[in-house]
Amino acid sequence: AKGQLGESLCFYESSMDESARARRKLANDLRQAIDRHELSLLYQPQCYLESGALSGYEALLRWHHPLRGSVPPDEFIPIAEEAGLIIPIGEWVLREACREAMHWQDDYRIAVNLSAIQLVQPDIASTVTRVLLETGLPARRLELEITETAIIADKARALRNLRQIKALGVGIAMDDFGTGYSSLDTLHSFPFDKIKIDKSFLLQSDKSEQAQAIIRAVLGLGQSLKIPVLAEGVETEEHLAMLLSEGCQEAQGYYLGRPGHAPSLLAQTLQLGAA
Ligand code: C2E
Ligand code: CA
Ligand code: CA
Ligand code: CA
Repeated sequence: AKGQLGESLCFYESSMDESARARRKLANDLRQAIDRHELSLLYQPQCYLESGALSGYEALLRWHHPLRGSVPPDEFIPIAEEAGLIIPIGEWVLREACREAMHWQDDYRIAVNLSAIQLVQPDIASTVTRVLLETGLPARRLELEITETAIIADKARALRNLRQIKALGVGIAMDDFGTGYSSLDTLHSFPFDKIKIDKSFLLQSDKSEQAQAIIRAVLGLGQSLKIPVLAEGVETEEHLAMLLSEGCQEAQGYYLGRPGHAPSLLAQTLQLGAA
């Protein structure tokens, strides 16, 4: 029995090594990804529910690995964070998204995800300022999406940075609301411009009355605090109808539009098609 335990421990350790090695390899590949043009952004529409009008797009990062193909962000972003690469990558995302938004005919908002590590950088507000100046994007068109885990990492510094960024006129959205462990405290400590209800609630709402009740409660909370709420994960017409009847302001999800290629490129293609 002892031998068996020894063997399985040994197996466990070597598979740990394996996954650690795989992560280190990916981190190394990721180091060169910007220069090799392997990163790109997709844009997913966000819509006002009442009018059905487009309100903006969320920029979502993609990595096309030369051998592995597309690596999902949920897999490589934690690696980028661990390796300190999220700072240059995050800045690339911010600049690329702002530059893209400058090509749009209408002044839709562009929402960009900010990692916890970026948020606690002492110079994050000046990075945002510099990117806005470089690209010419008006601050009010930019919205940064932040998860509460990001704020909890170093609350004092996160709040100080967020206040500076907000003072520029940039909007701040609380992402994945309801999945952290002190959502209400975080919401209370910082004046967010938007609450994004995590998609898991809507996706479970078909089967779970509890999930529906939580959505209603968050909408009520938004109403009381006068913070608009966006629901993520709208996959069906039923989701949309429910949100509309419950007074939700904005929505995002596959039913309204999947993450897609840069809207400016799309417009060019349409023009070419028409010509
Ligand atoms: P997130 O910020 O919560 O982004 C929303 C995710 O939900 C996206 O996954 C999007 O494709 C997906 N989604 C949108 N509508 C639906 C729907 O109707 N149903 C379902 N099931 N899913 C939907 P994606 O693009 O794979 O991104 C995953 C996560 O990776 C993001 O979650 C975000 O946390 C992170 N991420 C993506 N891009 C960036 C980035 O540029 N910087 C940072 N720091 N994180 C990023
Ligand atoms: Ca987001
Ligand atoms: Ca989210
Ligand atoms: Ca998420």
